[in-house]
Amino acid sequence: MQIITTSSELIATRENLQGSVALVPTMGALHAGHLSLIRNAKTQNENVIVSIFVNPTQFCEGEDFERYPRKSEADINICQKAGVDILFMPSASEIYQDSDEILLKAPKIAGYTLEGATRAGHFDGVLRVVLKLINLTRAKRAYFGQKDAQQLLLIQKMVRELFVPCEIIPCPIVRDKDGLALSSRNLYLDPSMRNNALKLSESLREVARQIMIGEKNTEKLKAHAMDVLAGIDVEYIEIVDKNLRQREEVKKGETIVLLTARVGGVRLIDNLWI
Ligand code: AMP
Repeated sequence: MQIITTSSELIATRENLQGSVALVPTMGALHAGHLSLIRNAKTQNENVIVSIFVNPTQFCEGEDFERYPRKSEADINICQKAGVDILFMPSASEIYQDSDEILLKAPKIAGYTLEGATRAGHFDGVLRVVLKLINLTRAKRAYFGQKDAQQLLLIQKMVRELFVPCEIIPCPIVRDKDGLALSSRNLYLDPSMRNNALKLSESLREVARQIMIGEKNTEKLKAHAMDVLAGIDVEYIEIVDKNLRQREEVKKGETIVLLTARVGGVRLIDNLWI
């Protein structure tokens, strides 16, 4: 595995790659969720590039940019074992020039509601870094988790609208045995917080159960979820279509339940694709 830290070296190395190139963008502190993206990328491509970059432009004022878990050594081992071909670990100055003036703006509704409502500018930063990484790697395919549903949908929209020649491959949410969706931020949870955090996935399972027994009304489904989430600081739970617009009724293949809650100050997200 080649470890590359500069953009110029990545561009030069990419020139010499034969066959299809896959990109798996991450912020590191890798876990089995990231690994599932890498595995999918490996089965479909000749070359897999993983990027580890805690992207400053997607963190808002007062968020955890400084204390976001950074585990370079462990991450390098994980990527090596997973058969990654190139690990790109740039510093911020390799990605952003002080003189950068071309910015991306996430759409008003889809980018500034839900996750974007309390994190103004978050998706602008996400789109900006993802486009830069796709351009640097000229990846044929890029792999993203359904765990970050709004992010995935916005990246798909960007690629469509800007004619970016890269296929976005969605990958299912990977969970711990107890149901908790894997996240680098789970490292912040102590055992009792973790126990409370399980209510997120439990509430989504309850929504799935209600749908199984015939409930379609999204207000009623949200109420069932909120019963399970009693005592948890829910930031939002919404049931939306793939344009991130609220749905009144669940329609199979076109509905996502988005949930964000704080457990002991740790902000966790989870969702259910129906
Ligand atoms: P992050 O390092 O948190 O920015 O995540 C990098 C990529 O891994 C994103 O596409 C995430 O959606 C994806 N990812 C994170 N956690 C999971 C998970 N539990 N299951 C599947 N994909 C995930």
